[in-house]
Amino acid sequence: MRRPWRAIAAIALSLIAFWSWSPDHSQAAGTRKAAKAKPRALAPEKCEPRKFRIVVDVGHTPDSYGALSARNDPEFGFNFRLARLVTAKLKSEGFTATRLLVTDGKARPSLFKRVGAANDGRADLVLSIHHDSVPDKLLETWEFDGAKSYFSDRFSGHSLFVSERNPHFTTSLKLARMIGRQLKEQGLHYASQYTLPVMGRYRRQLLDKDVGVYRYDGLIVLSRTRSAAVLLEAGSIINRDEEMAMNSSERQEMIAGAVAAAVGEFCERR
Ligand SMILES: [Zn+2]
Repeated sequence: MRRPWRAIAAIALSLIAFWSWSPDHSQAAGTRKAAKAKPRALAPEKCEPRKFRIVVDVGHTPDSYGALSARNDPEFGFNFRLARLVTAKLKSEGFTATRLLVTDGKARPSLFKRVGAANDGRADLVLSIHHDSVPDKLLETWEFDGAKSYFSDRFSGHSLFVSERNPHFTTSLKLARMIGRQLKEQGLHYASQYTLPVMGRYRRQLLDKDVGVYRYDGLIVLSRTRSAAVLLEAGSIINRDEEMAMNSSERQEMIAGAVAAAVGEFCERR
């Protein structure tokens, strides 16, 4: 069944309006304010869930929707549904200051908008939700819904990314490992292909080979945020079986639950 993409876009657009609480977001706030704002130290010794400001960032925008799935559904929709569920789970576990961040516009300006929103909102933690694809050269063709479509069943799994340029790299890595551990305990496997030469410019250094945490220094949403930041590629939507799994509420609940459990553990150990 095809998903109600228009409905998702409408909900997302209403949330974009909700997030426009500062007139500064159309600028590259991260760089503009860099001179006067010092990197914010993460909360003192203890983490209080209700005061812990988590931003759950929906990767991409309705206009610049990221990857296209094997069945021609935009990544943005997958990101939006999962990020909304992660936000709800975190709130239900006491992290009431969690906010869902939906950004509009074209790809690159939207990256600075989301970083600006997170920094202006003095986030303690940014978690960016994405779904994975493969480099174009690996795509194969098939017919879906009467249309020539693209897929690759070669790789599957989730992956986590952190940037060493983030001012809280060690903290980010710690949280990413906790998320990876929780996902592994659910029986999910990580995408190991990012170390392979076939990935070309998408090749990354694997920081944790047990739970699948990679280093991705240049990623704006990770490197320019002043809080700890982790990017989760929740699964591959270009893989035909995994796309179906990512569409299931069972898998979405499993991933959102794992993320919330990891954040809970992260907070407890602070
Ligand atoms: Zn993406």
